[in-house]
This record gives sequence, C-alpha cells and structure tokens, in this order.
Amino acid sequence: MHDPATSVGGPAGTERPTSLADRLNSDYLARHIAKEEAFWSSYMGLTDDATRARAQLDEREIALSGWLQDPARLDETTAALSGATGEERVALDGWRETFSAHSIAKPEGRALAAAIIEMEGALANARGAMKLGYHDPEQGFVAASSVRLGTMVRSDPDERKRKAAWEALRSIESHVLAHGFVELVRERNRLGRMLGGEDYYDWKVKRVERMSKREIFTLLGELERLTRDAGQRGLDHLAAKHGRESLRAWNIQYFFSGDSTREQDPYFPFGPSIDRWGRSFAALGVRFRGATLTLDLLDRKGKYENGFMHGPEPAWRDRGSFRPARINFTANAIPGMVGSGFRATNTLFHEGGHAAHFANVDMPAPCFGQEHAPTSVAFAEIQSMFMDSLLSDADWQRRYALNAHGEAMPIELIERGVRSSQPGAALSTRAMLAICFAEKAIYEIPDAELSAERILEAIRAAERQLALIDDGNGRPALSVPHLLAGESSAYYHGYVMADMGVRQTRAFFQQRDGHLMDNPRIGPDMAKHYWAPGNSKTLNDMLRGLTGETLSPVPLAKHVSRTADEAIAEARARIARLDAIVPFSGSVDLDAAIRVVHGREVIADCATMSPGRFNEFAQTFARWIDARVAEASKSEGGAR
Ligand SMILES: [Zn+2]
Repeated sequence: MHDPATSVGGPAGTERPTSLADRLNSDYLARHIAKEEAFWSSYMGLTDDATRARAQLDEREIALSGWLQDPARLDETTAALSGATGEERVALDGWRETFSAHSIAKPEGRALAAAIIEMEGALANARGAMKLGYHDPEQGFVAASSVRLGTMVRSDPDERKRKAAWEALRSIESHVLAHGFVELVRERNRLGRMLGGEDYYDWKVKRVERMSKREIFTLLGELERLTRDAGQRGLDHLAAKHGRESLRAWNIQYFFSGDSTREQDPYFPFGPSIDRWGRSFAALGVRFRGATLTLDLLDRKGKYENGFMHGPEPAWRDRGSFRPARINFTANAIPGMVGSGFRATNTLFHEGGHAAHFANVDMPAPCFGQEHAPTSVAFAEIQSMFMDSLLSDADWQRRYALNAHGEAMPIELIERGVRSSQPGAALSTRAMLAICFAEKAIYEIPDAELSAERILEAIRAAERQLALIDDGNGRPALSVPHLLAGESSAYYHGYVMADMGVRQTRAFFQQRDGHLMDNPRIGPDMAKHYWAPGNSKTLNDMLRGLTGETLSPVPLAKHVSRTADEAIAEARARIARLDAIVPFSGSVDLDAAIRVVHGREVIADCATMSPGRFNEFAQTFARWIDARVAEASKSEGGAR
C-alpha cells in the first residue's frame, strides 16, 4: 500500500498552517478514503481476486483502526484542547470524542483487536465461499444467495420451497459456527472484558452508542413487554384464518405479507424507482449539498448480500469552505422477482436517507460526518428509516405508486394490504427484537460453556421467546450478516431503537404540519436539527431538539399494536387529505451528482442537475432495468 498521506491534501499551491486539527483532518481522510475504496471494491466484488481484495481491505482497515486506536493521539488532542478556541476547539472536541470511541490504551488490547479483524476477514471469506442454496423438492440443490432465500421465505407460494429456503438460511448458522465464529465470540469477549465492558456487546455499545448494554436492553425489554399481547393476537389471527400449520417459522411472514406483496407488485415496478425517489425527495426539500452519489442496486454473484451506505469522503467544513460528501450505496434487487421493485424503491429511500444525513453534516472536521463510532447507529438509522417509512403511507401510495398504465394503487388494494399486514406488525417488530436478544445472549455465554451447540441453544431460546412459537425466527439470527462483521456486530438493536425514533419524528411532523408526504419543511428541518451537527450531539439531544422528547418505545408499541380497523381509519384520513397537498412539479434538483453502476459497468449518469437532466437519467435507468426484467422473464420461460 502506498503512503496514504500523499493521496490527500489541500488545493494545490495553498499553504496549510500545521495546526493539530488540520493535521488530524488530513491524516484521517487519507486513511479513511484508502480503506473505503478497498471496502467498496471488496464488498462489490469488483476485482477478479476476492481473497486479495479482502486482504487489501483488512490491511487498510488495520491501518485506520491503528491510527484511531493509538492512545497517544487521544492524549495529544486532550492536551491541545486547553489552548484551543472557536472552530479549532469544536474540531478538537470532535476528535477527542472520536479517539475516545476507538483508542485502546493497553498494547495487548490493540494486538487483540488486530487479531480479531483478521479472524473476521477469514470468517467473511469462509462465508463468501460457502455453497449456499436450497433443496428444491423437484430439482434438487439450487444455488441461491441469502437475499434470495429471505425473499423466498417471505413470498414463495409453495410452502415446500419456503421451508427449504428457511432451512438453507439455518445452514448458514452451522457453516459460520464451523468456520471460526465460536472462536471469534471468545476473542471478542476477551477484548470487551479487557477494556472494561461486561462483555463484548456492552463494551461495543458504550463506545458506539454512548449507552450501556443495560440501558439499551431496558428500552428493548419495555418494547418486548408492550408488544407481547399484540404479537400473540397476531398469531391467533393467523391460526384462525389459515390454520395451525400457518404458525411455522417459514409461513408467518408469508401469510402476513405474501398476498399483498404480490398484489401490490405491479404498482412498484422496478424501472421508475429512481424517478419516484428523486421526485419524493425533491418534494420533501431534501438537498445533498453537492455530494457525489454512486448506486449499485442489483444482486450479483460475489457481491455482499445486504444493502448499505458508506461514505468514502465525509462532508465537512474545511476552514470555512464546505467540502461535499462522496457516498456509495447498494442494494441486492433481483429484476423480475416479485417484490424486487418495492425492495429497490425501499433501498433508494432508506440508503438515500442515510446519504441525505451524511451529505448535510456541516462541522469543522471530517470526524463528525462519518458513519462509524462515535456516530450512533440508532441515530443514523432514524434518518433512513424515516424516509423508507413514507412508502407504507396510503397518501404516498396513492400519489406515487402507479402501475404501467399510470393508474394509482386502488384504495381497496391499499386497505387489503393494511388488513393483511397490520395483525403481523407487532410480530415483525418482535422478529427484529429476536435478532438483538439472540446476539446479546451469544456474548453472555460463560467462556467455559462456549461451543457451537451452546450458541445455537442461546439463539433458539431467545428466538422462541420473541417469536412466541417453537420454531424460532423466520430469519435465523446467525444468517444475519451484521452479526459476523466487526463493524456491524452488536449493532442490530440500532434498527429497533431507530424505529422508536422514527415514530416519534413522524408524530412531530404529523402534528405540526398535518402530513408527511411532499411536506417541504421536512428536508430543511431534518437538515438543521438532525443532520448538520453530525455526531457532535447524542441521539437524545437531537431528538429533543426537534420533537421535545427523548427516545421512547411507547409510540412504536402503539403503532404496531393497532388493530387493522384502526390502521385503516388512519389510512383513510391520509387519503382524504391528499387533494390539499400540492404535488411537486418542476424539475428535480437534489444538488448532487448521481451515478448508477452495476459492478464495473456505468448504467446511468447524472453529473449535473440542470433542468430536465434528472428526468433523462431516471429514464436511462428505467430502460436498462426494463431490459433486465424482460431478460429474466424470458429465461424463466414465462413461468411467472
Ligand atoms: Zn440503514
């Protein structure tokens, strides 16, 4: 690896005074950018040699972590703070927080942390090399990614295939347990305890969320209690409607969503997804402040099997001048598969919400606008999940979810969707909680008892308690990629906490403005209160700043515990107000340069936002997708 310090600097010819903050800013950017380039290349499968790409990523990750973890850097920053004023002080404060979240004072701790990154790399390779697939009742073994398997569990009309897909997801668990996960848990716990945590989970969240494991699981436990009755009602509803056999892990999600996913599919075509995203975000007043966005949206062999956003270059203010962000985000949509258009649209709103957040961070150092610690996972997910929550709103569906003939989704269909999914809402929140409680349980196994069998036992016990059935969860905990990778382990609770924050944020806008869809005050308000300060404020400070409240499980519990009739009444009220909400008209200008790629291939490019340009870009993308969908249906012999 070349010296990263030479790859980044100020504009050519400018003299840089060498203040500590300046030096930290440029040293960090060099290492961060180098690591993120390798990350994207490895996770997108852009090179022919996956093992080498992963090794390069590991090497650069170790270089960056080593820099962030060096206790000398924390000491130096703390010492410099006493004499600092103004922006310099703000920047150094941010760096002190960042180093506190990473620095490992003990040399043996640093050595162990580096060894753990190598183990994680080896596990990721073993997982990537796994021959994953399901046993089709007619064709025998069929190779399939975990994304495809998850979609099958949710939507395949053939129960034998749903069961086979669920069993295939479980096979990921035995594979990772046989390929280093047990040892990884042991070493992670050793590190966590060495550095003052109760275990790895506790240590990690104290650094990342600035909350203890106990505080987090007090909120999650409260949510569990508040949703237990509604969860049981959901199961009773399913059993009454479809019989006891529907209460199997591979059936529950299907019966709650299967029909409406299929029926609503024509209203979520894949092709127009970019156009809908652009117009919706423009109508909300969201701006990306000159950011460059790269989107890689389709599933592909060798590509990481989960959507994410990463920012190779954080947005920040370099001595008064704003430096726009460079952001990549990805999804695993499969053209032609039922639900793939919705999934793509959802990813654009979700990851686009992350991108809007990080593109708007306006602080005097790049440490405030990067997505790793001390940026709170839960806080970051509020931004993305707020945006994707709009897609389930009846007013959004009436205005934006049009079929190929330009017809809006019928009200009866919207109501049928609510009627089938609402009774399962509490269970789907509990399915997410199951992953959090299972992961917590893994790290609470005493060292002497740690084994593959014991880990599976702990997972199943947590799953049974949350899913309220003997099978456990429809999404087996260890098939969730977050639990394996270092940066996303002890992290999943962030989605549940974010869901709480989303309900609080939505309630605030709803109450103040009467609507969410096409509400032009949302983008500017979120930019001001949630986005601009970056990680300089805690989750609770930010929530309080906009909504006046700290994080609470109550609004979410109420939302998922509503009866279908209550949810339908709300949907009708939204639709009734629709005509009073002025639709967005005019040219989409998100103040961003956007590019859609498929691996190494560039599909559509929107370098500037001149009038009409976004529209052309969205159409280029739609044509490309339409061709892929046609190809997919041809190769299936019109069976669908
Ligand atoms: Zn997210």
